Amino acid sequence: MINVLIWNEFIHEKNQPEVAAIYPEGIHRAIGSYLSEDGEFSVKYATLDMEHNGITKELLDDTDVLIWWGHQAHEMVSDEAVRLVCERINGGMGFIPLHSAHHSRIFKALCGTSCNLKWRHGDRERIWCVSPSHPIAEGIPEHFELPREEMYGEPFDIPNPDEIVFMGWFAGGEVFRSGVTFRRGAGRIFYFQPGHEEYPVYHDENILKIIKNAVRWAAPSVRESRNIPCTNPAPLE
Ligand code: ZN
Repeated sequence: MINVLIWNEFIHEKNQPEVAAIYPEGIHRAIGSYLSEDGEFSVKYATLDMEHNGITKELLDDTDVLIWWGHQAHEMVSDEAVRLVCERINGGMGFIPLHSAHHSRIFKALCGTSCNLKWRHGDRERIWCVSPSHPIAEGIPEHFELPREEMYGEPFDIPNPDEIVFMGWFAGGEVFRSGVTFRRGAGRIFYFQPGHEEYPVYHDENILKIIKNAVRWAAPSVRESRNIPCTNPAPLE
């Protein structure tokens, strides 16, 4: 059983009726109810408004993969939550930042760059699978479309990813590295661009399938932390 924690800022759904109409129980529960369907994953939820922003060491120690959605309140995530999550990722927990989590404090700390990009509301996106043999692309067609999505465009200020699994093309002309992987320490990271809150992106079958594939790919083989200690050993010979 893979333990998944889905963290959501959970502000738009409470403040904007048009977003609540798409995600009445929040983006986190829309993704989580899909992942919970077949018993492969044990899903927990955390939100910004919870004590300690919903992030504790005990919870992370019991988590294999953390999915993160945030947008307008990145700066309200505490230093301690950022530190705990980054340390746990280095120890082997998988991490899947979605959409505007490109600007989350955690993803920026892991990348060490601004993670800036171009953006524009309301565009059609065609997502191309450019690494069809990758486990995250299993069962995904060569390309599929989102009728409405927020345009995210290059240049995307991230370190060179280990792999590019998906490329996005937008009707406005821009392109974007929409699905990219990194490793930090023992942890696997998959950044996935689609998911603007005003459009029903997390009801799209291909998007949900990609997130499920990514959870399987990012899950560590053992749950125990593999953080590498700093040691000063005596010589072997
Ligand atoms: Zn957005």
